[in-house]
Amino acid sequence: MPSQTWDVAIVGLGPAGRALAHRSTALGLSVASVDPLPRRSWTATYAAWEDELPAWLPSHAVASRIARPTAWTTRRHTIDRTYCVLNTPVLQSILAEKSGSVFAGRAINLSPTAVRLAGGSTLNARVVVDARGTGDSPDLAQQTAFGVVVEPDTAAQALAGEDAVFMDWRRDNGTSPSAAPSFLYGVPLAPDAYLLEETCLVGRPPVPMSELASRLYHRLHARGVLIPSHSNVERVRFAVEPPHEAGRSRTSDPVRFGARAGLMHPGTGFSVAASLRCADALAHQLRDGSSEGLWPWRARTVAPLRSLGLRVLLNLNAEQAPEFFEHFFDLPPRLQAAYLSDRSNPVGMLSAMRRMFLASSGDIRGVILRLALRREIR
Ligand SMILES: Cc1cc2nc3c(=O)[nH]c(=O)nc-3n(C[C@H](O)[C@H](O)[C@H](O)COP(=O)(O)OP(=O)(O)OC[C@H]3O[C@@H](n4cnc5c(N)ncnc54)[C@H](O)[C@@H]3O)c2cc1C
Repeated sequence: MPSQTWDVAIVGLGPAGRALAHRSTALGLSVASVDPLPRRSWTATYAAWEDELPAWLPSHAVASRIARPTAWTTRRHTIDRTYCVLNTPVLQSILAEKSGSVFAGRAINLSPTAVRLAGGSTLNARVVVDARGTGDSPDLAQQTAFGVVVEPDTAAQALAGEDAVFMDWRRDNGTSPSAAPSFLYGVPLAPDAYLLEETCLVGRPPVPMSELASRLYHRLHARGVLIPSHSNVERVRFAVEPPHEAGRSRTSDPVRFGARAGLMHPGTGFSVAASLRCADALAHQLRDGSSEGLWPWRARTVAPLRSLGLRVLLNLNAEQAPEFFEHFFDLPPRLQAAYLSDRSNPVGMLSAMRRMFLASSGDIRGVILRLALRREIR
């Protein structure tokens, strides 16, 4: 390990750490990054709304674009917003290009200016950035999903010919009304491959993988779809909120970024596009020492509203979820986008929440009111 002092030391090379290393290097900063497995290939299917992606990301990072995806709640909706499935290997190689020096190692202690690694060496930097993700503590809300990769003909039968289904909350997955809800997600990965995935948006405890697999096969069987036994599968499991210690900010802490910093939307589990977008802002801040940072007051106002949204989702059952999302997809596209994507639009967020509350039936309103009036109890 060289003994120099870097401009930036980044701990964690997931999408957030990689994006920050790439953008900081582009601004001329000297960057050192560390991860236990820095050359691990990413295999997850990352998706995002097209308007969330930063302009610097080349268009070949997108594997497929769906102009107006469908959602099914108690009825069919068309979402007036383009959805993109990213090409994960291409994204990873774009971000790995020109991204400074990379070291294999596990950080065991982080301060604002030094990273101590297991094995005894230390990385010194003007600024240390903690991008270690959300971890997998069992007491955090988690997203779980089980998916199969199928051919387009099979997908067409499962999705009734739709190009992509962002959420299908219909209850042909065999759940009882009181069960934790899950939905079908169906998107094209490439011209010859579709992902069909039974997803529990958030659960505490998470819905087990075996349960999601059996719901997926139940649903597909009900639609007359047979899944070949050799199909590739995708298993999703990650915490949608940062670990408790990352929620407290002390001067002895390093700068945080990515899912570790609360850039993950706790109600959707999406963070990749937000991290790609915010990487430039943080890189400029690191270079110029500007103080606005990732958390202007508007973002700090939106965060607890998103957190309330998470708690509402954790308290909806399989019967209530389709109605709740019916009201969501009835919102005008600008309010859907404010809720899902905009970290700094408290007015849009509140307006979306107010409209959904007013449209909801009594029992869902009861859930929302109970949680809004109660202090958060984990
Ligand atoms: C199958 C699947 C599908 C998904 N689909 C989507 C999607 O469509 N859209 C979306 O936005 N998100 C999606 N997600 C979630 C997405 O993976 C996370 O939002 C994203 O990875 C968070 O990025 P991050 O860089 O902040 O953290 P992470 O990706 O968790 O990266 C953290 C890095 O820190 C490293 N690290 C941890 N501890 C240490 C340590 N002590 N020292 C050094 N390094 C350390 C880890 O090895 C890891 O590389 C999906 C997840 C899965 C599993």
